[in-house]
Amino acid sequence: MKEFDYVIIGGGCAGLSLAYELDLHQKLNKKKLAIVEPRTEYKRDKTWSFWKVSSHNFEDCVKKSWKEFSIKTSSDSKIIKCDNFPYQSIDSGLFYNKVNEKIRKNKNIEFFKDMKNLNTNDSFIFNSVPLMQDTESNLWQHFYGIEIETNKEFFNDQTLDLMDFDCDQRNNVHFFYVLPFSKNRAMIETTWLSRENKSLKDYESQIKSYINRLGVNDYKINFKEEGAIPLFYPVYEKEKNKINIGTAGGMTRLSTGYTFLNIQEHSKYIRMNIENIRNKKKYEIGKKYQFLDKIFLRVLKKHPEKMPNIFYDMFGASYSTTVKFLSNKSNILEDLSIIWKMPKWIFIKSIFN
Ligand SMILES: Cc1cc2nc3c(=O)[nH]c(=O)nc-3n(C[C@H](O)[C@H](O)[C@H](O)COP(=O)(O)OP(=O)(O)OC[C@H]3O[C@@H](n4cnc5c(N)ncnc54)[C@H](O)[C@@H]3O)c2cc1C
Repeated sequence: MKEFDYVIIGGGCAGLSLAYELDLHQKLNKKKLAIVEPRTEYKRDKTWSFWKVSSHNFEDCVKKSWKEFSIKTSSDSKIIKCDNFPYQSIDSGLFYNKVNEKIRKNKNIEFFKDMKNLNTNDSFIFNSVPLMQDTESNLWQHFYGIEIETNKEFFNDQTLDLMDFDCDQRNNVHFFYVLPFSKNRAMIETTWLSRENKSLKDYESQIKSYINRLGVNDYKINFKEEGAIPLFYPVYEKEKNKINIGTAGGMTRLSTGYTFLNIQEHSKYIRMNIENIRNKKKYEIGKKYQFLDKIFLRVLKKHPEKMPNIFYDMFGASYSTTVKFLSNKSNILEDLSIIWKMPKWIFIKSIFN
């Protein structure tokens, strides 16, 4: 049985980000790390996007960065500039290559397919495999997207469509998300915020008719992506020698599904405190966001038909305020200015519900 100082369970986004951060800052010169990951090969499987409100290690994996985005409802539309906090998209294929290339050179890091040959009695464990206690009332952000290439130049590659609610809502919350990587290449996603519901998953026909509506008839598909982000926290069992990271560690912002940049900040926190990690406070997305997101999701469950306008109005505050709020970087005045934009009576009722 092999023994290691640290064990990372799950070599996905959080596990690899942490291993990279520890390796980069020479925290593994005298320590041994095992990464347990069952996948047999790494290939592009996701596109991670976010407003860049803080620095990260993966600038060279950014596929495209935008300085403006649009939001649309069936009656309104606006373009919002975000010069200070560009919206970035990371190609997971580039990320996996970069991290694997670096960390596989470190003799103190070893990969395993499972835990069978590991003795973890004296190890500190970073676990990224979530334990879900799923119930019917839980909300999910579920989506399906395709990256298409058109013959003619079609897309405005300066502006991404963050949320286009001008589509069939089926008593849930539904929008299209378009990332134009160039004038003839874009990722188009159909996204739902709903309880588990098979009848919403006719994704391909939703996308097809949206693309036709955009006026694109001739295209080829280069990549497909499907996923579901839990808009609830996985079970977190407190253990002396273990902390959870990534989705399992509560790094998802529940009102938006954004997780990537929180994972990067968590990795930095662990790296800075690695020598004393057993005694460190659990890293969390701020309590105020947990509270506000809980209320927000209650409103979303009760009044899905109001959500397109609620999201639209949220972007009525200054862009930096809204982006900071959605990226957990806002101060109390900025929080208040967002809350002010919300339909107050509905939100107040939801607090007491
Ligand atoms: C398709 C998709 C797109 C997303 N897009 C965005 C986005 O645009 N922006 C954003 O901020 N967030 C996004 N997210 C949310 C979040 O950033 C990602 O889910 C991210 O990959 C979470 O990282 P993670 O390490 O927690 O999980 P993962 O990256 O899924 O890593 C978990 C790893 O654990 C491994 N594993 C599974 N079972 C075991 C086991 N029993 N033992 C050991 N290992 C195991 C898996 O193979 C996997 O490699 C997206 C999620 C999905 C699914």
